[in-house]
Amino acid sequence: MTGTPRIVVLAGGVGGSRFVLGVRGALRGRGIDDTTSALTVVVNTGDDLWLSGVRLQPDVDSITYALAGVNDAERGWGRQGDSERVNHELQEWGAGWPWFTLGDLDLGTHLARTGWLRDGLTPTQVLERMSHRWDLGARLLPMTDAEVDTIVVLEDGSRLHFQEWWTRHRATLAPARFENPGIDAAAPAPGLTEALAAADVVLLAPSNPVVSIGPILDVPGIRQALRDTAAPVVGVSPVIGGKVVRGMADVCLTAIGVETSAAAVAGLYGARADGGLLDAWLIAEEDEAAADEVAGLGIRSLVRPLWMTDDARRTALGEAALTAGLADDRAL
Ligand code: GDP
Ligand code: CA
Repeated sequence: MTGTPRIVVLAGGVGGSRFVLGVRGALRGRGIDDTTSALTVVVNTGDDLWLSGVRLQPDVDSITYALAGVNDAERGWGRQGDSERVNHELQEWGAGWPWFTLGDLDLGTHLARTGWLRDGLTPTQVLERMSHRWDLGARLLPMTDAEVDTIVVLEDGSRLHFQEWWTRHRATLAPARFENPGIDAAAPAPGLTEALAAADVVLLAPSNPVVSIGPILDVPGIRQALRDTAAPVVGVSPVIGGKVVRGMADVCLTAIGVETSAAAVAGLYGARADGGLLDAWLIAEEDEAAADEVAGLGIRSLVRPLWMTDDARRTALGEAALTAGLADDRAL
């Protein structure tokens, strides 16, 4: 392969943004200055919602803020140094959800977005516009312009919005299943399937397989576009040492009958050769014993350090994922 590689990453919020930082770092490390042309990020919008009259896009904002360097890395969401005056006032009015904090700076983002949506811009156009404020070094695409929800159905049949289940109940109520109303009528965002078709490498971030990567794959046309692309598809395990690193993704996996292990998540995505998605799967050194099981599925398994706790580790992981893809025969 010659020239600038074209990389497409599928990503959710926290794990997704850490990984995207790493891929951007790896591209820069390869001497590519214009990473915006090289790197397209397809972002989950399945947990977007309307609250207090504004449109929230949690995963889109996590990635935007992280790439801009204005995210609250410690807390894992929102803006660094944000305040909550407006949120307090909303609570006094009894508006919104008392357990769902909206920061003041964050609300500025939501207001700008909502205004543009009301002016008639599509979510793709809004995100394009929002990408100009900072030098993000990546092109961001929502998975779809359609409004898709994530609903958690509990054992007793009651239904909760994903954010209520996740943020209010901290995923402690056992889910029977997840539903994405609206997804069957959704179409991939404009330019998305074209980006997959033209890619040199496609990367699945170590995001929640059920409620971050899952909805992206379930937008009609995206899974097929992944199967059709000539580019190798390389995934990174969100499970390290048999545990999800952060958050409650294990509860989501259990609900769909998938064990919380690096090999089981690989099995969920499936081998490309077997009608699934993956050519290669990066697993942690802690899960080395699972390498044979992954290989047995027909997926090239690579044991690498998967912790993304600082810049150097993130970039090393981004580089490992790029190398795994670019070294694949079909990309040469
Ligand atoms: P959300 O949309 O904010 O829930 O975030 P994502 O779906 O993008 O990512 C959540 C997942 O990221 C978690 O389930 C973790 O397993 C994974 N994750 C977070 N930090 C790391 C890390 O340092 N290494 C790896 N391999 N996975 C991580
Ligand atoms: Ca999310």
